[in-house]
Amino acid sequence: MTQLALVIDLNVCVGCHACVTSCKEWNTSGSAGPLADLNPYGADPTGTFFNRVQTFEVGTYPDTQTVHFPKSCLHCEDPPCVPVCPTGASYKRAEDGIVLVDYDKCIGCKYCAWACPYGVRELDEKRQVMTKCTLCVDRIYDPALAERDRKPSCVLACPTNARLFGDVHDPESIVSKAIRERAGYTLMPEQATRPANRYLPRRKTELPLHPDDLVRAENPLRIDGAEPGPAFLVGASEDFAT
Ligand code: SF4
Ligand code: SF4
Repeated sequence: MTQLALVIDLNVCVGCHACVTSCKEWNTSGSAGPLADLNPYGADPTGTFFNRVQTFEVGTYPDTQTVHFPKSCLHCEDPPCVPVCPTGASYKRAEDGIVLVDYDKCIGCKYCAWACPYGVRELDEKRQVMTKCTLCVDRIYDPALAERDRKPSCVLACPTNARLFGDVHDPESIVSKAIRERAGYTLMPEQATRPANRYLPRRKTELPLHPDDLVRAENPLRIDGAEPGPAFLVGASEDFAT
């Protein structure tokens, strides 16, 4: 069985939110939309997003890293959100493994959101239906689009190519090769949901800095004119793999 999924490279994601805004734009203008924005410019903005990027600082100062972590529905192979749905609105497609919500059947009871261990389902407050990533099911099969554009909107928008899309059950697909070659992992495997989406871990990088670089006036890492120590920069990163 085909299982479509995203593979996200945490090593190159820069947290620019292009995937978030392109997702919102596509899904608001397509069959999923309009996605609610109840107070987008207020002090406490609320709205519906299928894809969010969470940013964390990991490590202990001064050896810290900023990690950007995009998260949307992982299209689990054993999705707990499906059997809890009392109306059959939440379902997994046999032909490509995409987990979807039928808005016409959804009664907004939120059982599925409670069952999902990843917090990726969002109730559209305005329409009172549950929403989530569809892997852009309304564009990936569209024959009116050029073949290279038949990908989720977030994949096309990512400026660093941090997002790959394909069939994780096909060993020759681009996603399967990336998972194999770069130790792709699943999120919270202890939940036994078998997420189809994977993450590629951050990798150690050595910055080829010469000591003279540290005192150059235009070095953005200079702090208040003080010279940062080499330990702050060189070989300071750790793998971020879970
Ligand atoms: Fe369901 Fe959550 Fe898995 Fe998506 S990530 S298939 S909403 S359990
Ligand atoms: Fe099903 Fe909708 Fe209730 Fe979720 S909120 S369990 S999709 S009826």
